[in-house]
Amino acid sequence: MKIPFSPPFVNEEIIAEVVDTLKSGWITTGPKVKALEQEVVELTGCPEALGVNSWTSGAILVMKWFGVGPGDEVIIPAYTYSATALSVLHCGAIPVMVDVLDDFTIDPIKLKLAITRNTKVVMPVDFAGLMCHYEEINAIVQDADIIKLFCPNSEAQTKLGRILVLSDAAHSIGASLNGIQSGKATDVTIFSFHAVKNVTTAEGGIICINLPDPFDNSDEYKLMRLWSLNGQTKDAFTKSQAGGWRYDILFAGLKVNMPDLCAALGLGQIRLYASLMADRARVAKSYEDFFSLKAWAKCPVLKDERRISCNHLYALRIHGIGELQRDEMIEFITGKGIAVNVHFIPMPMLTVFKNLGYKMTDYPIAYANYAVEISLPIYPQLSDDQVKYICDVVDLAYQSLT
Ligand SMILES: *Cc1c(COP(=O)(O)O)cnc(C)c1O
Repeated sequence: MKIPFSPPFVNEEIIAEVVDTLKSGWITTGPKVKALEQEVVELTGCPEALGVNSWTSGAILVMKWFGVGPGDEVIIPAYTYSATALSVLHCGAIPVMVDVLDDFTIDPIKLKLAITRNTKVVMPVDFAGLMCHYEEINAIVQDADIIKLFCPNSEAQTKLGRILVLSDAAHSIGASLNGIQSGKATDVTIFSFHAVKNVTTAEGGIICINLPDPFDNSDEYKLMRLWSLNGQTKDAFTKSQAGGWRYDILFAGLKVNMPDLCAALGLGQIRLYASLMADRARVAKSYEDFFSLKAWAKCPVLKDERRISCNHLYALRIHGIGELQRDEMIEFITGKGIAVNVHFIPMPMLTVFKNLGYKMTDYPIAYANYAVEISLPIYPQLSDDQVKYICDVVDLAYQSLT
């Protein structure tokens, strides 16, 4: 049996939505992006959502909008995909990495200890679709002593008057915390619509704007939209209408807008997302039923008193082994036709961050999580038979360890 890791979900309905765009005479940013933004607003309850061409460009956009630049610090977990840190470097700022908890999300206590006068943003990561401990994190940035440390140096920073909480929610569309959907739990939340994510536009992302008073979220949407379109007062769609030729460039914006052709794919998917998510939950539950009976297996948190995961990844950990045995298991599983992965190689192990001076020994929990982690395939198309096969093969892989 050959089982890929994470093929995109595409059915006739989704194909029809894309073909409709191709036949419409308009393929870049226009009505399909608007419709997708509206779907995200309805799903999450956030006031405004802006489509962009990736999570990464969305994060750069939001940090530039907030005035993050050289000398500023942005706190992130050491355990994430490198885009989290790279987006900070691209703004000229310093990613300050902190360790994670056993549940893979950023440790709020260590996050608080890492705050300095230069901290402008904290960027927690909703690993595998499980939201971070945002009650604690939101309380930290609103703490009077932490607010006293904050040194605003842009209009938006002055207006907010504290550190911005920007969620890396690349994994967490559809997840919830105390009944609040990902997208509405922090100031700004960014979803990734990359090909392997729960909802995809091939490449893309959405910025959920949920700023507190005195911000007007619809004004900030308009401003961020300008940031996504070269700072140009009219988008191509408006300019294409008769008489719409004149425009101005207000500032040096980015060019990171989402095309309608991509939005159509996401639109087709997000309309089916409730059922796609239920299928992901079915797969996760089958894994849990199987692996919770194995003393050597440690199942990920799918749900606790406060949080419900959207099951983006199934991050199984193996008790009592080391990195080399984990790698041996992966080789065995791969040999049986099943594609698995490791999420993530902690950033301090990667060349670019090593060269910047980050050290893996500073993040013991991140290393411990990584060394014994195997991400199993999880997606709506997986049949019960395939899931059973994966379980049996992983079990055999463990038994075969020497
Ligand atoms: C996928 C991913 C990203 C990057 O998303 P893009 O849309 O590819 O830019 C960022 N952070 C995490 C945690 C991711 O998994």
